[in-house]
Amino acid sequence: MYAFGVDIGGTTVKMGLFDEMGRVLEKWEIPTVKENGGEAILPDVARSILAKMKEKEIDSRDVAGIGVGAPGAVDEEGTMVGGAVNLGWGVLNIPEILNQYIQVPIKANNDANVAALGEMWQGGGKGYRNMVAVTLGTGVGGGIIVNGKILTGATGAGGEIGHIHIEDEETESCGCKKKGCLEQYASATGIVRLARRRLEKDDAPSVLRDAELSAKAVFDAVKAGDRVAIEIAEQFGGYLGKGLAAVAAVVNPEVFVIGGGVSKAGEILLQFVEPAFRKYVFYPCSGAQFKLATLGNDAGIYGAAALIL
Ligand SMILES: [Zn+2]
Repeated sequence: MYAFGVDIGGTTVKMGLFDEMGRVLEKWEIPTVKENGGEAILPDVARSILAKMKEKEIDSRDVAGIGVGAPGAVDEEGTMVGGAVNLGWGVLNIPEILNQYIQVPIKANNDANVAALGEMWQGGGKGYRNMVAVTLGTGVGGGIIVNGKILTGATGAGGEIGHIHIEDEETESCGCKKKGCLEQYASATGIVRLARRRLEKDDAPSVLRDAELSAKAVFDAVKAGDRVAIEIAEQFGGYLGKGLAAVAAVVNPEVFVIGGGVSKAGEILLQFVEPAFRKYVFYPCSGAQFKLATLGNDAGIYGAAALIL
């Protein structure tokens, strides 16, 4: 048996062909064509999979199914309940559309949730069944897995930990229009904001004053022992650790798996998050481990295949 994992992004659609052991046999990608409300995206996916099946001489009876991760809230039936702004999509049902082209079982879920499942299946969370995946990228994404199952919630917004309110004093608005969301401090853009604010506060010397500010620049400076950068990282870690302590009291996870572009800073990142987490966490939840994600950009196709296998 085979399964396909599909990760639909704003620029490309990543796809993987998996065997029943969960090994990826082939990976490829196609461009995401967003014109006309993104109407070509799912037909393009279907055509690409059919072409791969023909190339590999795989009969549809030997395909256990196709799993799909998409950027937006997806309910249990695979309906994008709020559409997907990044793809131009309005409300649509992914399995229904793909089934017009390929008659195999199809499951869909939110891309962050699917990536979390991938990390638990074959990545940093392997061997665990209760996991919170935290993606530190442009925003802060989350995926929560309880007893091996993705927490979707009533409207598909379960696990959106980036929008936990963490700061009453914030004056700028988050992308969600509220003020003081975790994402405003713990994302790559959030770290840059923290850095800018810290540098404006006084004249303390720092290599960051001559650098183009980015999350990477901040953590590179931390590694070089820059005092101001360390302060910024402590602030970042304080917010994230506090937010994750709140999550732990609800989910009681065995492990937090930290991924996304910011996590490329490596283990040093965890040195700033864990102390704050330990400070605030409810004691019975304090055993949670912190690990870095290992699948990178492939987490989505792995998790999509895991929806099926
Ligand atoms: Zn927000």
